[in-house]
Amino acid sequence: MPDSDVKLVPGQVVAEAWDLCLDSKDRRKSSTQFRRALVHDFSDGLTVNYAGDYPGGVTIQGFVTIPDHLEVPGSTTLAGNVRLESGFEAFGDARLEGKLVVRQLLVRLTTTIIGPQRVPVPMTIEIDVGQKIAELEKRLSNIQDNWRWCHKCMGLWFAGGPDTGRCPRDGQGHSLDGSGNYHLMG
Ligand SMILES: [Zn+2]
Repeated sequence: MPDSDVKLVPGQVVAEAWDLCLDSKDRRKSSTQFRRALVHDFSDGLTVNYAGDYPGGVTIQGFVTIPDHLEVPGSTTLAGNVRLESGFEAFGDARLEGKLVVRQLLVRLTTTIIGPQRVPVPMTIEIDVGQKIAELEKRLSNIQDNWRWCHKCMGLWFAGGPDTGRCPRDGQGHSLDGSGNYHLMG
């Protein structure tokens, strides 16, 4: 881009530039060179807080609506608390292509319910999603698959071993004929 320009055309302010920067020296907490608030990026997309120029991050106040779909292409780590004071609504798909690591993620939902005599009652629900995920991971790690049902002795036997064991019905190995693959949870 040879020159940048700001134009006023009917109904629009057009900035012919890559970056829209908001930079207030007295509010800077780091000496990062740029403060790129909005960038027309290389994939013809709009990037907010380009390259993390604002060390304080992005805060969106009020109700957030994601009308199409939410995509998290890489690995995302949520290490702090996420606070939803109003509402969060996603109308389309939420897609996660990478690995999502959640540690100590506290989701706080503050809402108002209408109680008896139509009195509004403020209500706060707190869920530690990080802890829930840790519990789920622990349960999943205790699941062992490849357990089979033996039609001869009607018992379950583990087919991941070196042989088929010894069936009490006939002294031979257990059978996996007609059996599904069962998962046992420890
Ligand atoms: Zn058997």
